[in-house]
Amino acid sequence: MSTIGPSISLNNVSRHFGAVKAVDALSLEIKAGSLVALVGLSGSGKSTLLKMINRLVEPSSGSILVGEDQIEAIDPHVLRRRIGYVFQNIGLFPHMTIARNIAIGLELAGGHQGLDDRVAELLDLVELPREMAQRMPDQLSGGQQQRVGVARALATRPGLMLMDEPFGALDPVTRDNLTEQYKKLHHKLELTTIIVTHDMAEALYLADRILVMQDGQIKADATPAELLSGKVGAEAEALVAVPRAQAEHFHALGKQS
Ligand code: ADP
Ligand code: MG
Repeated sequence: MSTIGPSISLNNVSRHFGAVKAVDALSLEIKAGSLVALVGLSGSGKSTLLKMINRLVEPSSGSILVGEDQIEAIDPHVLRRRIGYVFQNIGLFPHMTIARNIAIGLELAGGHQGLDDRVAELLDLVELPREMAQRMPDQLSGGQQQRVGVARALATRPGLMLMDEPFGALDPVTRDNLTEQYKKLHHKLELTTIIVTHDMAEALYLADRILVMQDGQIKADATPAELLSGKVGAEAEALVAVPRAQAEHFHALGKQS
């Protein structure tokens, strides 16, 4: 059931909203199969960047390739079946069962055969019990609902996952569990993933590569190891200082006992 994620290429992409340059002449190459974290302050352009890749927002200029394809040449509905999209407070349809919430994209795409089997398989993937298929969303915890969101995003077997602070509204323990589990899923399904997070520790743990956005541009682009080495520059150093100090503090505490 494995899919190989596509590469992504942005060439001089901008998106302006009036006078605001949400994304400003940005160029970027992402390798097939990589897990990239996008971090940066609120308003730095992270969501706009993701939404241009699945054509929820059109660029003001520049071009975007997913795999070999120029995205403006692909019907947006077809494109979105190839791209899973998960965001904070995923918003399950409250009057539909979990099964229908997961299968809705498949139903819309015209596939009605084998939906129950596919739902069961997707529940397994996100480690939810199959019995949950018949429950309603309000009978699930916040963490379980976000897992359903991930299952729904994976239903059409996309190669690319765009995740916009997917677990940001959850308590830290649940968030860590989902992050850990998503990392496994990314590798198992050989996806390409871009995940927006404001949690630097999460980015360091999760990603092969971390992009730091500011004012619509990428100000740092490094592996976690490079960021932690302190050689990437002052901006990046400020970002890793807090998680590093915490890690050292906990390590020291552990040695005292
Ligand atoms: P982030 O996700 O990093 O918080 P966004 O991409 O949401 O940043 O926003 C970047 C900038 O673009 C912000 O200044 C925001 O107010 C502006 N912006 C985003 N979407 C719109 C929109 N639909 N209309 C007007 N301005 C927008
Ligand atoms: Mg955002």
